[in-house]
Amino acid sequence: MGLWTRRKFFVGSLVGGALAGAGRLFGRGLEIAETMNAGVAASGREGPAAGGTRPVMISSANGVNVLGKGMEILKGGGDTLEAAVAAVTVVEDDPNDDSVGYGGLPNEEGVVELDASVMHGPTRRAGSVASVGKIKNVARLAKTVMERTNHVMIVGDGARRFGVAEGFEEMNLLTEHSRKIWLAWKAKTSFNWRPGIDSPEWKEHMARLFDGDAEKIAYAEQRIAHPITGTINCLAVNLKGEVSGTTTTSGLSWKIPGRVGDSPIIGAGTYASNQSCAVSATGSGEYFIRLGVAREICNLVRFKGMKVQDAADEVIHHELETLHGDGGVIALTPDGQTAFSFNTPGMFRARLTEGGKITVGIYNDEQ
Ligand code: ASP
Repeated sequence: MGLWTRRKFFVGSLVGGALAGAGRLFGRGLEIAETMNAGVAASGREGPAAGGTRPVMISSANGVNVLGKGMEILKGGGDTLEAAVAAVTVVEDDPNDDSVGYGGLPNEEGVVELDASVMHGPTRRAGSVASVGKIKNVARLAKTVMERTNHVMIVGDGARRFGVAEGFEEMNLLTEHSRKIWLAWKAKTSFNWRPGIDSPEWKEHMARLFDGDAEKIAYAEQRIAHPITGTINCLAVNLKGEVSGTTTTSGLSWKIPGRVGDSPIIGAGTYASNQSCAVSATGSGEYFIRLGVAREICNLVRFKGMKVQDAADEVIHHELETLHGDGGVIALTPDGQTAFSFNTPGMFRARLTEGGKITVGIYNDEQ
């Protein structure tokens, strides 16, 4: 599995002083407990599941530094969906994050196509866009679909044109960093693009492409060998117990143009309802679509009375694994219970740090 070891692990919520007890909580998996920055605590399997804290925002590992932005909105009395979208927008804007928005890795033709969705738990309104080019803030675009149309989902060039009409800026989303990795991927996989990875000129070609930077070459080779990309997941709950969530991604790198993953599919990549919980998924999207993962977890919570962590584990560690799907979810209930369940870490899902610890993003009012 290259950089990542394929092993089961769990993360849940464990805040502040409770970190010391983290090891004890991981009967089935890797030990988890890490602090990314002053505002972020990480995680234990069972944490404060019974009676969580509010307000709270959670994210996949690539969101740990932006949750504070959403928390400011919650503390100012703002809406939970606005808080989640404001947070992920910062990552979409970042050219150095090649999993989402500007700088996302492209499809097989070198074109960046983005997918995103949002769902507002208090009203169960939703919006989504898929296969959108040239607009980087697709979580905001999905929210605009929700707010300004009678539709839930708009795709492809229609979504781009809708964005332009609504005042979104058009731009080239392919950064030099992502273009070079794409070129290297083509050279490795396509007969007509030389040199292939088995060619004596491969190393020379890579050195030229990345100006001899060994770290960049190793990163590009890793991205070529393991093409699953990242996604950013973000969920929020306010003091009133209103939940909302968003999922935004550049999808599977090197995908066939027009391929749509789970991230923009309401019920698969995202679901939010004040009657159960909010869920956002990341991983091999085709499996998440087939299982309707996000909605399935909400149904287990609502109709079977399961705890949110148990419901997430049931779907990720039983149903998803039965189909051999990779990935996981973050989830959040109206009373502030958090759940994190992954069967593989991926590049951005839950960051595996030295010493075998895992970080996800949790930001609550106590920090
Ligand atoms: N779920 C995303 C997709 O299939 C990719 C990911 O989360 O890494 O498009």
